[in-house]
Amino acid sequence: MIDLNGKVALVTGAASANGLGFAAALKMAGQGASLFLTDLDGAAVDARAAELRAQGFSAQAMAQDVTDEAVWTKVIEAVIAAFGKIDILVNNAGIAVLRPMSEMTSADWHKQISVNLDSVYLGTKVAVDQMRAQGHGGSIVNLSSIAGLVGVQGTAAYAASKGGVRLFSKSVALETARDNIRVNTVHPGMIWTDMQQVAIADNKEIFDQIVATIPMGRMGEPADIGSMVAFLASDDARYITGCEFVVDGGMVA
Ligand code: NAD
Repeated sequence: MIDLNGKVALVTGAASANGLGFAAALKMAGQGASLFLTDLDGAAVDARAAELRAQGFSAQAMAQDVTDEAVWTKVIEAVIAAFGKIDILVNNAGIAVLRPMSEMTSADWHKQISVNLDSVYLGTKVAVDQMRAQGHGGSIVNLSSIAGLVGVQGTAAYAASKGGVRLFSKSVALETARDNIRVNTVHPGMIWTDMQQVAIADNKEIFDQIVATIPMGRMGEPADIGSMVAFLASDDARYITGCEFVVDGGMVA
């Protein structure tokens, strides 16, 4: 079993009860980590932290807009105030602007890049500074997508942001390897969270068409991603950095 006892993890975008951020947080808490959750939706992320505490886990929460550089500094300060250090950062917050390029506005483009890619740069930078100052390494797990590996029609801005997360992470991993700060990406396929439910709405025909493209014959569950994040966060992954981990039921095999 993965052991995260004594580790402190910060997870962004963790407000949704069936989202990937909360699934990762739940898995890491179950393995012994203390959790600091953030999200744009402060009330909802407070509720998620309360759920973890009700299960006997150690958890705090704070509202955060991941695109705001000044707020990132405050979040790291709050994590240190709560738990004394940070060992793990999961850059999970994200949005999906799914629109053909010809219908996309510049505002759509900049919003997508800002929330999905600028945020990963901002968070990784402050976390690496703090981890270097602490001097005992760390693990950063950045949520990309299969859309960060292969082209998907109608997702140009989303794919650009997620492809950027992938190569940003590989490059930073090379810069931080000697500090034992590992940086990896997770590439989910189709996981049944609010993000997919909003995109597909209640359209059973589209749902069935998507499932038909998944070799394992089902959408992924948030816990499928949570397990991968927890593994990469742990010392069991101590010799893994600059790598990408596809969790997609075989979609891009
Ligand atoms: P979700 O929409 O359920 O959760 C995303 C969370 O991010 C929300 O709680 C939202 O409030 C938060 N958020 C949005 N903008 C923010 C901001 N500016 N600051 C702080 N928080 C903000 O999505 P999810 O499906 O759980 O996805 C989580 C991550 O996984 C995203 O990066 C997404 O792109 C990626 N991903 C998801 C899937 C999937 O099938 N669900 C597939 C590939 C990649």
